[in-house]
Amino acid sequence: PDTPTARLIHQEGEHLAHNYDPLPVVVSTAEDVWVTDVEGRRYLDLLSAYSALNFGHRHPELVKAAVDQIGRLTLTSRAFHNDRLGAFAAALADLCGKDLVLPMNTGAEAVETGIKTARAWAYRVKGVPADRARIIVAAGNFHGRTTTIVGFSDDPVTRDGFGPFTPGFVTVPYGDAGAIEAAIDENTAAVLIEPIQGEAGVIIPPQGYLRAVRELCSRNNVLLIADEIQSGLGRVGTTFACDREGVVPDLYLLGKALGGGILPVSAVVGDRDVLGVFRPGEHGSTFGGNPVAAAVGLRVVELLQTGEFQERATTLGHHLEGLLDPLLGHGLTEVRVAGLWAGLDVEPALGTGREVAERLLDRGILVKDTHAQTIRLAPPLTIQVSDLDWAVEQLKLVLQAT
Ligand code: PLP
Repeated sequence: PDTPTARLIHQEGEHLAHNYDPLPVVVSTAEDVWVTDVEGRRYLDLLSAYSALNFGHRHPELVKAAVDQIGRLTLTSRAFHNDRLGAFAAALADLCGKDLVLPMNTGAEAVETGIKTARAWAYRVKGVPADRARIIVAAGNFHGRTTTIVGFSDDPVTRDGFGPFTPGFVTVPYGDAGAIEAAIDENTAAVLIEPIQGEAGVIIPPQGYLRAVRELCSRNNVLLIADEIQSGLGRVGTTFACDREGVVPDLYLLGKALGGGILPVSAVVGDRDVLGVFRPGEHGSTFGGNPVAAAVGLRVVELLQTGEFQERATTLGHHLEGLLDPLLGHGLTEVRVAGLWAGLDVEPALGTGREVAERLLDRGILVKDTHAQTIRLAPPLTIQVSDLDWAVEQLKLVLQAT
């Protein structure tokens, strides 16, 4: 049919590399938890751009911070200082209880920066022989799309056909601290894990895992690097997912919501004895730490310092769990909830995660499948209870109708 939606999707298909397969909706405007497509249909956003929109679409204070800054200064590069970066770094370091911040743009860049930090620390501080540093990662991980990062993914779609890969990574099962202990040797620089695995389908490790890994790392002089790019900044009801076990990693990797859903902002945050390893010229980014990113990022940190969003994620998350649990055995084979974040496994007889996502789209709800049978719910933390109730009612209808 010759609709605006069809025309725009066709145009994208003709001129974009096919590295995505989006659901057939063309969004043109958004406010808070609702988006509107080019034909005026409204949808409830239960994906939040993979948790980059934790504060909702176009949060007024974040938009104001961005617009005000765009009217003053947008870019200096780090060749010069700008009058916004220091305040952002101070606030973010304080939020994390750490000394130093290294600002980048995308999540993958923060992960790459964490890897370089760990290697430099291993050689310069720990005394690992040159080029021998190893980093332990978990099966099922998702840390981004650079060639180094996909090289230690075990998902064939992510990895196959893009080698040769960077050496120096060891994969162990996720959720098994004993496996990490067995993999540590004198050249181990770091353990890099997601405290909850996002793209794997909101996989929550057994209680005590993070604490055991923290203890192992401390005992063996190995850095713990927590990739909180998707799990952090309020999503699970605490500022960081590591907080659920009272664990403090050596390095936090942050991204997504740090840019308030407005622009890409990422960072590595750590103490001086670790992140202080970099010397001028060894690492950088043209746009990393730009004044607009710093202005928005500072406002994001200030929103989190109120505790209001963490509290909403906790309360709404309990409510959501209560709504989803009755669907176990009635269309869902497993439900995993952490704060306002849920991974739902769809009974295969009812279709794939993608098919459920398409049926929900028809009912005015945006969700995204991950892997074959899983859909992930990650609404903005600003969502109202009544909208959550409505959304789960639609899910129930979709699961019943098939
Ligand atoms: N790390 C985690 C845990 C993620 O979930 C993602 C993105 O989904 C990334 C890193 C990569 O972030 P980006 O897409 O901004 O490079």
